[in-house]
Amino acid sequence: NETRGRLPRYPKLERWILLEKMGDGAFSNVYRARDSTGEFDQVAIKVVRKYELNATQRANILKEVQIMRGLEHENIVSLISFSESQSYYYLILELCPGGELFHQIVRLTYFSEDLSRHVIVQVADALKYLHEEKGVVHRDIKPENLLFEPIAFTPTKNPKRRSPEDEDKEDEGEFVPGVGAGGIGRIKVADFGLSKVVWDSQTMTPCGTVGYTAPEIVKDERYSKSVDMWALGCVLYTLLCGFPPFYDESISVLTEKVAKGEYAFISPWWDDISKSAQDLVSHLLTVDPVKRYTIEQFMDHPWTKQTQEPTIAAL
Ligand code: ADP
Ligand code: MG
Repeated sequence: NETRGRLPRYPKLERWILLEKMGDGAFSNVYRARDSTGEFDQVAIKVVRKYELNATQRANILKEVQIMRGLEHENIVSLISFSESQSYYYLILELCPGGELFHQIVRLTYFSEDLSRHVIVQVADALKYLHEEKGVVHRDIKPENLLFEPIAFTPTKNPKRRSPEDEDKEDEGEFVPGVGAGGIGRIKVADFGLSKVVWDSQTMTPCGTVGYTAPEIVKDERYSKSVDMWALGCVLYTLLCGFPPFYDESISVLTEKVAKGEYAFISPWWDDISKSAQDLVSHLLTVDPVKRYTIEQFMDHPWTKQTQEPTIAAL
């Protein structure tokens, strides 16, 4: 059914005209598509290959849909509708034409502190909503799952990283979605494939019957939101310097480094990054989940609260 080069035709998806493949995952392809009825603007469609999934994985997709249905926030990709055929699940999603934050980091090498703040605060706003209003833990926050709305003009290179030969040449730039002089596209959190509703000991929502919940569940879930805060720290670290806090060719070495929280503010890349930013990162990348910053503490940190509109000069 899925032909190389040309766009595939899927059963029971006649309403939507596929335009371009935008991304893929282990069991899915994501397409940009047009609504033949004209009711909606362009959308993104996540097509999940049902036949490759076992019962648990199928249930997880339905859970992803269930969780997304209950969400409404400007920094979260909204689910427009859901349908299925015998072999596929179709998640019709709000389109983020600016693509992944991941690609923007690769393109710009790294972000200024102002631009990093602009991005991370939007992710934090989404997490605050998920954690505090919905009792949802995302569990897969990473630059590949943070998507941009479009924006117009962008310089071809990060001015700081232009070579000496480029010095007297005008940077003509290009029109690329994501980050540009016209502004910065809004960030949207995507991919609720690993997300989970947790029992909230404080508000006793949204799971209701608290009296019968076992202690290990209560204890476990009290800290489960902190996994998103760790990930937020990893994203912030990566935005600021252009490489992730934990990396190794070997998975076992990498796992060991993460378990110990073994990372550093490596010179020279971190030399010009403020102590305040480093302080915030270190409170997020704290191994003990009890001591790790919550979303509330993140919002209250002096670095987060600095207000400065990011400009292209600050890139
Ligand atoms: P998976 O669970 O397979 O990782 P995702 O939901 O993360 O699936 O989608 C995979 C990729 O498809 C994303 O990393 C992104 O590049 C692209 N994508 C997903 N949703 C959208 C969307 N709403 N708009 C634009 N691109 C999207
Ligand atoms: Mg993903």
